[in-house]
Amino acid sequence: MRFRLNYRRYVLPFRAPVRTAHGVWAERTGLIVRLEDESGRAGYGEVAPIPWFGTETVEEAAAVLHGLGEWLTPEQLAPVPATFGCLNFALAGARAELDASAAGADRRVEDNASYLSVAALLPAGRAALAQIAPKAELGFRTFKWKVGVGDLADELSLLDDVIAELPSGAKLRLDANGAWERRQAERWLERAAERPVEFVEQPCFSGAAQGEAQCRRTEALLLGLAQDYPTPLALDESLVGARDVERWLAAGWGGVFVIKPALLGDPAPVLARLAAAKADVVFSSALETAVGARAALRAAFAWRSAKPRALGFGVWPLFEDSRFDGPFASPCLRAGDVALLNPEAAWNALT
Ligand code: MG
Repeated sequence: MRFRLNYRRYVLPFRAPVRTAHGVWAERTGLIVRLEDESGRAGYGEVAPIPWFGTETVEEAAAVLHGLGEWLTPEQLAPVPATFGCLNFALAGARAELDASAAGADRRVEDNASYLSVAALLPAGRAALAQIAPKAELGFRTFKWKVGVGDLADELSLLDDVIAELPSGAKLRLDANGAWERRQAERWLERAAERPVEFVEQPCFSGAAQGEAQCRRTEALLLGLAQDYPTPLALDESLVGARDVERWLAAGWGGVFVIKPALLGDPAPVLARLAAAKADVVFSSALETAVGARAALRAAFAWRSAKPRALGFGVWPLFEDSRFDGPFASPCLRAGDVALLNPEAAWNALT
């Protein structure tokens, strides 16, 4: 048995530039991987690095794929080095699809009817206010607001206005993308206490570029903040790959793990570790196309939790070219809608 491996590069402008604490992101680059077996069945995977997360780059992943060559034995398809989390996610996803189609393992009807709720995304700043009522009308009950983008005092003073717009019983997630220093994070966490804030995502962050000592200090700060304030904290930028998940589990992180499967390598073993630790998990998009989204959302639907949290996948329509979009943002996502996503169409759109 041999596999034929091909890949295509994509450069996809976003419908609207994505504004984050790291600046403006205008277009997404990545790779779609296609794996075909000798009977002609194909599985697809996606390499979708986020530039500031410290994953491998698209070029590095492409170089590894180029080096693997076109025809591979199953042994040659073994995971590439663990630091290539995005590429391992793509290869594992393509292989899993291929194995499932070879086994004729289409999901049972009752599985397809299961659903998960989705968080509505709100833009940073005052622009969030006008978007809450229409999204509430659609049925969204979890809202995620980007913070740490504008002036701290301005954003803090908007918090109660944002909360006042929420429908009753709704929850608000705050995502700072690691923008705050200790004192800023403390001011936000003081303000969030006794308000309907579901969690504060990545209040602080130091990446590899800031050096090992600074990374350790920021990790200690996050663990301390999680102890000192009642609002749960969530890790996102802190979790780039399986090794980060292991490290935070070992550190006894009791907050939320925001899992972007697209960055995690083969998600199955990591999710097994998180499940064994009874970790509190939110599944989240890496702003990938429908190809990666299909594998990521399948992992989310396979996750068993007594109190599942709303998915962080309310991102589509995302691309100028809608052929690459995942399921359009709606308050609930059905497993059957994930099964309908068509990776082959995205592949063919790249010819
Ligand atoms: Mg985040």
